[in-house]
Amino acid sequence: MALLALAALSFPAAMAQPLAADEFRVTLLGTGSPAPIIKRFGPGVLVQAGGKTLLIDSGRGVTQRLLQVGVPLGKVDALFLTHLHSDHVVGLPDLWLTGWLQASYAQRKGPFVVYGPVGTQSLMDGLALAYAWDIRARIADQGLKPEVIATVVTEIKPGVVYDRGGVKVTAIEVDHGEKLKPAFGYRIDHAGRSVTISGDTRFSENLIEHAKGTDLLIHQVAAASDELLKLPAFKVILAHHTQPEEAGTVFSRVQPQLAVYYHFVLLGTPTIPAVTEQQVFDMTRKTYNGPLLIGEDLMAFRLDGDKLVQLPPRER
Ligand SMILES: [Zn+2]
Ligand SMILES: [Zn+2]
Repeated sequence: MALLALAALSFPAAMAQPLAADEFRVTLLGTGSPAPIIKRFGPGVLVQAGGKTLLIDSGRGVTQRLLQVGVPLGKVDALFLTHLHSDHVVGLPDLWLTGWLQASYAQRKGPFVVYGPVGTQSLMDGLALAYAWDIRARIADQGLKPEVIATVVTEIKPGVVYDRGGVKVTAIEVDHGEKLKPAFGYRIDHAGRSVTISGDTRFSENLIEHAKGTDLLIHQVAAASDELLKLPAFKVILAHHTQPEEAGTVFSRVQPQLAVYYHFVLLGTPTIPAVTEQQVFDMTRKTYNGPLLIGEDLMAFRLDGDKLVQLPPRER
């Protein structure tokens, strides 16, 4: 019993794989969408390069996943939001507030740094209001520093939004729908290697253009059966996302070393079954023959060697 308890406590450290000094590592923290399922937490991609720790989106469960990969919440240097749909930001208050604590899993030393579309400042202002009691109480009662719960927000435009220590982040405007502007993907370049993350988008020529030559392309996918698409509500959702055959075309034109799916929107009802991941894979093969993976939470890749490699899987 005592041994079991000890194992449970040391779980995060045991799961962590040490990061080499010059390593460029990309970890899928969450590969889901709004559906609250255990298998796929909300969207979040961790990028560790050039000594920087960057996070793209902060979906549900991002804090648990960070701890699983051995990254204290306060170690995140900057958060980049693709857009403000709730599935991409619902984990943000947790990361911001819990990262402020003095516990070993938290330990932020400076303000919380966020880059995101227009509306990000008002999101953070609203959160400060919503959590005003907690913030006031922890400053007065625990002596936590006000400057560490402070936020530094940059509302971005397309182009290079971050360039520090040889790590460059470029915001790419994508197309998530007429009423859902702006929405961004991100490309992170470091030491001649790069990862591009689509965010939520329909088929996007602009994404293809900016992703060209990228090593790792992490792309969202959505699919539903023809029967389901007769229902208007589902048709609207699908119209905001890239479907497998279209994503295959994106991959064929970008020609990454590896394409990986995340942000799965596989719609179904109790009577109309959802498209399976295997079907997504097979549909993609109609337009793309290159390296392709169905992403999973905690899948990680190392980009800094001669060839991109997938790190050994770990338990969830
Ligand atoms: Zn989404
Ligand atoms: Zn969205």
